[in-house]
Amino acid sequence: MIYLDHAATTPPTREALEAAWPYLTQVTGNPASAHEVGRAAKAGLDLARETVAEVLGCRPGEVVFTSGGTEADNLAVTGISTATPRGRHVVTTAVEHPAVLETALALRQRGFRVDVVGVDATGTVDLDALAALVTDRTTLVSVMTANNEVGTLQPLAEVSALCRAHGVPLHTDAVQAAGHLSLDVDALGVDAVSVSGHKLGGLRGAGFLHVRGAVALDPLLHGGGQERGRRSGTVDVASAVATAVALRRADEARVHEAPRLRALRDDLVAGVLARVPSAVLTGHPVRRLPGHASFCFAGVGGETVLAELERFGVVCSSGSACAADSDDASAVLLAMGIDADLARTAVRFTLGATTTADDVAEVLRVLPAAVGAATVG
Ligand code: PLP
Repeated sequence: MIYLDHAATTPPTREALEAAWPYLTQVTGNPASAHEVGRAAKAGLDLARETVAEVLGCRPGEVVFTSGGTEADNLAVTGISTATPRGRHVVTTAVEHPAVLETALALRQRGFRVDVVGVDATGTVDLDALAALVTDRTTLVSVMTANNEVGTLQPLAEVSALCRAHGVPLHTDAVQAAGHLSLDVDALGVDAVSVSGHKLGGLRGAGFLHVRGAVALDPLLHGGGQERGRRSGTVDVASAVATAVALRRADEARVHEAPRLRALRDDLVAGVLARVPSAVLTGHPVRRLPGHASFCFAGVGGETVLAELERFGVVCSSGSACAADSDDASAVLLAMGIDADLARTAVRFTLGATTTADDVAEVLRVLPAAVGAATVG
């Protein structure tokens, strides 16, 4: 099987699993307990927090471990907005993951105005529209670092400059970017960052939110006051350790892994466009994640290319694992101006640490037949 769905989830690395193992088998205390076993668990958690903070260039106390990217997004959008509501105005984009977009829209029920800024045909946020909406009274701006369906990188530096000029906190969902781009929060110019462990070689069901110390945050989960009162509940120490180790490793490997993936991805894109006349590349042609190649295939029946590819031993996705069961066209592709019928033919190949040139060659070999078999009429 050739697995090209690394953006949905990528296998945990051996190093992350080995780092987590002692916290599942020996150091099994509650990190909040004062005794020796608890202190040992807390030491592991502290080290994980420091590791994350080193990669992000932030203070360890600014890292809140969560159950994953979804919770980190919910905590950022709701927690920052309700803690300092000022103008009760949240601005986000039409291509956000539902963990951000739906959370922002839900704030309307709490009296917030929520503006959703559109994107151009490459999936890049409309900066003029954003600039026209953000004011000194805006509560929060949330713009993702990179899109999960088409891989487009957002112009965060420009978004950050705009937010800084108005003193508005900026959150970014970096779930897809983590491990591929620098997450240095000062260089990114952001106030809050969401990361998920299982997209970078950690475990599913774990992640964290970085929030700058100066930004107030209301908790979503109330209880024992863990994570400095920002996220109650006993932290899954083993998963936090795995996330931190995987993040550090991915960040170190980035220097050679990003060009490697980019070269493989470029071969894949060029090969697909050359071999399949109906193929259209979606997302930005250049400003995109190194491992992302996403297409629509005019004239094929919805999910059938995926099914045909799987028969040939190639596993990929329509663009977002969350929408995989739905017949609806992707909201991201629709926001980019792609018509609904074409959008329903979306196929996303996402490359990762285990992907080789042979994998790419095999996909290119079988794809014309898979698309041919899926072509309607
Ligand atoms: N944000 C983005 C951009 C994602 O791609 C995903 C997962 O696909 C999430 C958030 C949710 O992360 P998690 O699966 O850890 O809840």
